[in-house]
Parts: sequence; structure tokens; C-alpha cells
Amino acid sequence: MSPSPRKLVVGNWKMHGLSHALHEAQALADALHAEPSPARVAICPPATLIHRLAATMAEAHVEVGAQDCHAERQGAYTGDLGAEMLHDAGASLVILGHSERRARYRESDALIADKVRAALRAGLEPIICVGESADERRSGGALGVVLGQVAASLPSELAGRHFAVAYEPVWAIGSGLTPSLREIEEVHSAIRGALTGLDPHGAAPILYGGSVKPDNAVSILRAVEVGGALVGGASLTTASFLPIVRAAG
Ligand code: PEP
Repeated sequence: MSPSPRKLVVGNWKMHGLSHALHEAQALADALHAEPSPARVAICPPATLIHRLAATMAEAHVEVGAQDCHAERQGAYTGDLGAEMLHDAGASLVILGHSERRARYRESDALIADKVRAALRAGLEPIICVGESADERRSGGALGVVLGQVAASLPSELAGRHFAVAYEPVWAIGSGLTPSLREIEEVHSAIRGALTGLDPHGAAPILYGGSVKPDNAVSILRAVEVGGALVGGASLTTASFLPIVRAAG
């Protein structure tokens, strides 16, 4: 029997973290240095911390990622950051299509697909987020919405490349609510089926995100086709993030 693939646990700090947040990350690095995790662990801080975080996390094998990138390499895009810049600063992954960006910045599937191409060009591993709203779940449309986003925001260039998909029901993010394990497994299995063209060997992890906490991480991370977790609020302190990382081991 082939060994089960390593889970990927990613902390999304969103717009949280000044310089002193590096101490929190250092505590995580120290814990993982003392007792390494079999899981892949990554932190996606605000872009201002990527360079310093990457320098301190290397020894603990904690990867550092970005939370977004521009679709173009460079140009007259005041305030934006290109994928090459993020890679140059020390990022190895990038979250793309997070529901907060889809909603607040009206990011379309087509734009997200362009950003995925930009990430691949720069050598960043994209984590592409998909997920339904509360209304879409209530009306029975969750699977259709998620599979539509997978079809339209994952470009064919992903074939043969390292990438991850994160299933994040919009209504579960930051709310303390989660789908049932059966609902998570249903969506993850459907995503796995939709990825066969791009990822015939099933190597791309499908992360679950939305109110993952120390007390639900073990059961979620054991669910069928759950290849890891994308963690928002609970990734901000080592006290809550480390037990989630350990649950993936
Ligand atoms: C997220 O924003 O990606 C997320 C999963 O947030 P939370 O864990 O806080 O629900």
C-alpha cells in the first residue's frame, strides 16, 4: 500500500500582524523544530512580513505564502504585487480566489485563472479557493457552484504542476459554523472527481477551510479526501494553530 500523502496545513493571517507577530511564528517554529510534524505547514502572513518570516521559518520547515498576487508580472498597478515579487521576497505558495477577494474585489473565475497562471510562471504553488454561500447551500446548489468555480478558475496549465484546492464554504469562514463531515466529504469527493484531467494521480491536496479549530481539526482532517486545512482565525496564535498542525500528523 502506498503511504498516504502528507497533509498540508496553511495559516491565513489575512490583514493581521505587525512585527511582533514574528514572535508568535517563532514559537511555532521552535515547537516544530523540537518535534517535527509529518504534515507540510505554511503561514501566509501579510505581504509586509513575508521576507522576515521566510528567513526565520526555514529551519523549522515552515513554508511561507502570500494571500494574493496580481495577474501581471509588473507594470503601472499602484499598490499591487506581482507573483515574481512575492517569490523574490521568500514566498513559495499563494492563496488565490479567497472568498473575501471574490466578494469584496469582485474577482471573477477568469481573473483567478489568470492569477493562477501568474503564480505558476513565478514558481509559486497556488492554493485556489472555492466555496458556496449560505443561500447557495440552502437552495441545494452548493455542489454546482463549487464545481463551476473549479472548472472556471483552474486553468489547464495546472496539469503536471504542484497546486492545491481549498474548499471554503463562505458561510463557515469566521462564523464558528462548519458543514457536517458528510457534507465536507461529498464536496471534496466531487472536487477530486473534477480534477482527474489536471491531476490524474490525485496528488493535489484538497484542503478544507472554514472555522477549523483545535476541537474539530482531528475529525475534519480524517474525513475522506480532506488533504489538509486552510485556517484563518485559529492560525494567529501558536496555542491554537499548533494543535491543528498536530491533528494533521
Ligand atoms: C479563511 O479565511 O480562509 C478561514 C478559513 O478563516 P477561519 O478559519 O477564521 O474561518
